[in-house]
Amino acid sequence: MPRIVMKFGGTSMAGSERIRHVAGLVKREAERGNEVAVVVSAMAGETDRLIQFCREAASVYDPREYDVVVASGEQVTSGLLAITLQGMGLNAKSYMGWQLPIRASGHAAGLIEGIDAEVLEGVFRQSGIAVIPGFQGVTDRGDLATLGRGGSDTSAVALAAAMKADRCDIYTDVDGVYTTDPRIVPRARKLDRVTYEEMLELASVGAKVLQTRSVGLAMRYNMPLQVLSSFEDLPGTMIVGDDSIEDRNMERNVITGIAHDQNEAMVTLTGLADEPGTLARIFAPLAAANINVDMIVQSAHESGDGRVLTFTVPTASLAHAVAALEQAKEEIGFDEIRTNTDVVKVSAVGVGMRSNAGIAAKMFETLGARGINIIAITTSEIKVSVLIHEDYTELAVRVLHTAFGLDQD
Ligand code: ASP
Ligand code: MG
Repeated sequence: MPRIVMKFGGTSMAGSERIRHVAGLVKREAERGNEVAVVVSAMAGETDRLIQFCREAASVYDPREYDVVVASGEQVTSGLLAITLQGMGLNAKSYMGWQLPIRASGHAAGLIEGIDAEVLEGVFRQSGIAVIPGFQGVTDRGDLATLGRGGSDTSAVALAAAMKADRCDIYTDVDGVYTTDPRIVPRARKLDRVTYEEMLELASVGAKVLQTRSVGLAMRYNMPLQVLSSFEDLPGTMIVGDDSIEDRNMERNVITGIAHDQNEAMVTLTGLADEPGTLARIFAPLAAANINVDMIVQSAHESGDGRVLTFTVPTASLAHAVAALEQAKEEIGFDEIRTNTDVVKVSAVGVGMRSNAGIAAKMFETLGARGINIIAITTSEIKVSVLIHEDYTELAVRVLHTAFGLDQD
């Protein structure tokens, strides 16, 4: 019998009527002859509400107790879905994280260490349906733990891997993964298939759809994921391994999607000594402060006043980065730190890039023709990213989407 995990996000679980609709989708899959485990999120907005209560209780709160509070949202929806399924005549039962168990590494942003599939095997033997709260697990001390925001996706994929499911379906409020953000490019197309690697790189297109961690996990276990709408009966997007896409070169574009990331801030250091070791003295304190540096550009000389170095960090780390550099100023030796948050990283992503040259050239040409200045560049095997002024975000995404043949006819 085929085995599937069905995961429903917060908007799909928000209220009795929607839960009834979800129960209908679960019933349909069970009647098709699948063994089904369902993973649910808390009702939309509920986790935020519970976190707010923790904040009101104390400005600094114990993560163990935080987990006790926030894990409750998923407990409610899993119980309600089980009741609803039972009302439809199905043999459904909820199992909390500690009842399987789903073992988690620690509090508030725990990692899944392992899931025991024994209980579920028993459920399937009796033609039952298991409903499991996402986002929660249990520590080795027997305490409740949660997995970090958006963690239900990871619960679902981990569960699918543990029970050796054939597929993990992620039901959400969008109907799939698009070539770019449809709010920027109305002619964005829904992708039938995308590889794990591409999905990881397409974060700005897909981040709202799936917790990135869950994609990495699916890739590790080669677990096919399907993103689909719980509101419309439409085919979704399959996220699969590279080897399951044979028609890549004939039917697919070299570029799969255009992503953009507003979450980059630029740091520029001036008056650096032109000597070996300068870069090491700059990046060591940043690494020590756990700051991820993304793009790096170094220019040789600026009117004879030494070298200039520009790099980017996540916007949230900017203040930390500046503080770390200021503290090491004597050692590094620089004139000035300048920062700029009015930048955006725009990326062209596609595994087809591996066998096609000239993607970067085409990207630079396309942006140049529109008068868009490129501040920095990075590339990987399947991605070319450029840093530009944020005022050009929409224009850049739109012209690249067209240039790489992604527009819907
Ligand atoms: N309810 C949790 C959150 O909002 C987990 C999830 O829905 O994925 O972050
Ligand atoms: Mg989510």
